[in-house]
Amino acid sequence: METFIAGLFLAFLLTELAIESLLNEANIRHLRQEWREGRLPDVFAGRVNDKTYEKSVGYAEAHGRFARWSGACGAVLTLVVLFGGVLPWLDRLTGRVGALVPVAEASGILFCLGVGGLFALLSLPLRIYATFVLEERFGFNKTDPRTFVTDRLKGIVLAVVLGAPFLYGVLWLMKATGTWWWVYVFVFIFAFQALMLVIYPTLIAPLFNRFEPVADGALRDAIAALAGRVGLRTSGIFTMDGSKRSGHSNAYFTGLGKAKRIVLFDTLLEQLSRTQLLSVLAHEMGHYKMRHVLKNLGLSALFLLAGLWVLSVLLDYPPLFRTFGLEQPAHHTALVIFSLISGPFTFWLGPVMNHLSRRHEYEADAYAVRLLDDGRPLEEALVSLTVNNLSNPTPHPWYSAYHASHPTTVERVRAIREAAAGPSGTVPAAGSVDG
Ligand SMILES: [Zn+2]
Repeated sequence: METFIAGLFLAFLLTELAIESLLNEANIRHLRQEWREGRLPDVFAGRVNDKTYEKSVGYAEAHGRFARWSGACGAVLTLVVLFGGVLPWLDRLTGRVGALVPVAEASGILFCLGVGGLFALLSLPLRIYATFVLEERFGFNKTDPRTFVTDRLKGIVLAVVLGAPFLYGVLWLMKATGTWWWVYVFVFIFAFQALMLVIYPTLIAPLFNRFEPVADGALRDAIAALAGRVGLRTSGIFTMDGSKRSGHSNAYFTGLGKAKRIVLFDTLLEQLSRTQLLSVLAHEMGHYKMRHVLKNLGLSALFLLAGLWVLSVLLDYPPLFRTFGLEQPAHHTALVIFSLISGPFTFWLGPVMNHLSRRHEYEADAYAVRLLDDGRPLEEALVSLTVNNLSNPTPHPWYSAYHASHPTTVERVRAIREAAAGPSGTVPAAGSVDG
């Protein structure tokens, strides 16, 4: 039975690796071919010079090569941890250390944090390469070694401060609540995720970046006027010093309840004109109005409940544990084994979630067009973002269908033009308040 489980897992892992490698190679080849044949999409005409186009081809190729190697390294690392006797060794070690700590579940917590730490440590070289070699070569890296090290240290502190109580709650509930433990654990994790959506923007993100209200007077007034129409408090609009780490520019919307925030990178403020910035804000306001954060939370709750139920079934199945060198089932080893092996069985959910994410992006774009009654500023902003970030202008359609959380720039511009030409929808009246 153990051989069968190992074989099944290997088959799924290799399938995932093969699909992702093929898509990656197809994407690189497609980009190179479009470039050689001079097929730059119309939306970029007059907005990208030959040199920048060539540079973005080089950047996408470098990322493709990096994805090739990091994917293979990740698979090897997972296999070594699962089949190389790492789990039983770590279980004995944390069992002995945990026995000395006068806290319930200490051994289990140490085991889970230990596996997480091991993966973080072994993937550190890849992270260093990505930041200081790959991003550096294309002029994006702004992280100095000092920031890099303090980021990692803060990450470790956060993993322990948030991870230990979280694991304590999960392990305690698994033990204390009997057959229906997975329902109790579901409620606990869901509440924890909702809490994270509140404390991430207000308490955690500020540990890594500075957030400030928009300083520029005219821009601030324009933002206040726009936010007033949508019913969003302007106290929820911030700029962030993204330039501390990277030259890439971005904007995002996150949070729940009073912690809802729209964040603009300072790099974005440098690259876009005022009307373009307002169009990006209008897009983020679209995410807010359409409650996309809440919808994602609801969907992830479904996956969580299903995953925990599967875990509850596997917990009573000793051969699974013996496959990975562990003599008998235990709650803490079950959590780790499940999180390590579930990827290859659920990777197809990635493209499904990306499809949904792209739908949300189209919705937010259409909302922005309606709100501003003009699609051009958003179109210009998207093209400018693509060019400044050296994003792949011509990704392979299968690659972007699988990997991309946002539609391609060409797809978005086309949809924006359609939305702008179509019948204008309902624009919120001045001062309308979102419940
Ligand atoms: Zn968006």
